[in-house]
Amino acid sequence: MMNLNMVAPPEQSNMRILVTGGAGFIGSHLVDKLMENEKNEVIVVDNYFTGSKDNLRKWIGHPRFELIRHDVTEPLLVEVDQIYHLACPASPIFYKHNPVKTIKTNVIGTLNMLGLAKRVGARILLTSTSEVYGDPLIHPQPETYWGNVNPIGVRSCYDEGKRVAETLMFDYHRQHGIEIRIARIFNTYGPRMNIDDGRVVSNFIAQALRGEPLTVQKPGTQTRSFCFVSDMVDGLIRLMEGENTGPINIGNPGEFTMLELAETVKELINPKVEIKMVENTPDDPRQRKPDITKAKELLGWEPKVKLRDGLPLMEEDFRLRLGVSKEN
Ligand code: NAD
Ligand code: UDP
Ligand code: UDP
Repeated sequence: MMNLNMVAPPEQSNMRILVTGGAGFIGSHLVDKLMENEKNEVIVVDNYFTGSKDNLRKWIGHPRFELIRHDVTEPLLVEVDQIYHLACPASPIFYKHNPVKTIKTNVIGTLNMLGLAKRVGARILLTSTSEVYGDPLIHPQPETYWGNVNPIGVRSCYDEGKRVAETLMFDYHRQHGIEIRIARIFNTYGPRMNIDDGRVVSNFIAQALRGEPLTVQKPGTQTRSFCFVSDMVDGLIRLMEGENTGPINIGNPGEFTMLELAETVKELINPKVEIKMVENTPDDPRQRKPDITKAKELLGWEPKVKLRDGLPLMEEDFRLRLGVSKEN
């Protein structure tokens, strides 16, 4: 009789994986993780609007890796098994810079990637955002909450853009049977964030290292929940590999006010800097915290890295890039 213990696990077949926006912050960490598996071949397409080749330098020239300068608002012909669709500026400074382009990236870009998924039979994962909940009237936000979004505000190109992208994903799924996955990502931080991209964690760390005041936007009591990038990448891969379409919230439920965040950065990085209150921007959500019950149940996922442990890892990367040594 055959001894079942002797049966080798089924060979995992080779996978060709497309990562749009793979030269960006989360995308480049995702590529690092996917490249660890020798069965994976990774193709990155990116227009370098907010990303950089530098984030991928260790893979350039690798036989299982390919980097293509391409804008997802144009059709793309490649043959792949999976698509991680991340291409879209994530920082308010950049997505508000050319709002019409941001909407095109979200709508036409996602349509093109769905057309590609349909033609080649690939599974596609969209990185949506907690911003689909707008300025939420329910706290914390479960996936069933439909959101409170201003359709005509300065953030709408991004949050309404992602909402349409989610709609397109589900319509392709229902109408054409495309295999879809939707992650609703909450604020993520870590090494390789753009130093001057204006998001709060990168701002505070850069300011602390430069000895400048930490700019807390009023009232300072608004909250966010920050997920370290390695946890985020782990969640995205589990979602892609699992059986659930989502949408699924992926984020860290630890909730902090912006004043608390400033105090923590000050304490950990530079106790000499001051904290300065400055004007805020329109439509700033007052509170945000993911309900991750679904991610825990369906993906067996929850974040591991606490803010106090993640901030020093980001500090190290920012010190190198800013040329500020530890003694300063
Ligand atoms: P990022 O700006 O570092 O990366 C986005 C990448 O997409 C960049 O490399 C950029 O050059 C590329 N890109 C932008 N427009 C493009 C286009 N038209 N064609 C091709 N490439 C294009 O941002 P990130 O933080 O890595 O975010 C990645 C994804 O995660 C985005 O879809 C974003 O909406 C989503 N997300 C991020 C966060 C966060 O906190 N970082 C939160 C919610 C959602
Ligand atoms: N598309 C693409 N790559 C492909 C297949 C399609 O970029 O391999 C684009 C195509 O140009 C179109 C979009 O995806 O604009 C939607 O394609 P679909 O076939 O769903 O719609 P149609 O072409 O019929 O409008
Ligand atoms: N913020 C701040 N100081 C800064 C940048 C941002 O206090 O230098 C605040 C901002 O008002 C918001 C929060 O930090 O309440 C998160 O802003 P961010 O732009 O990082 O992300 P998002 O609004 O997309 O969550």
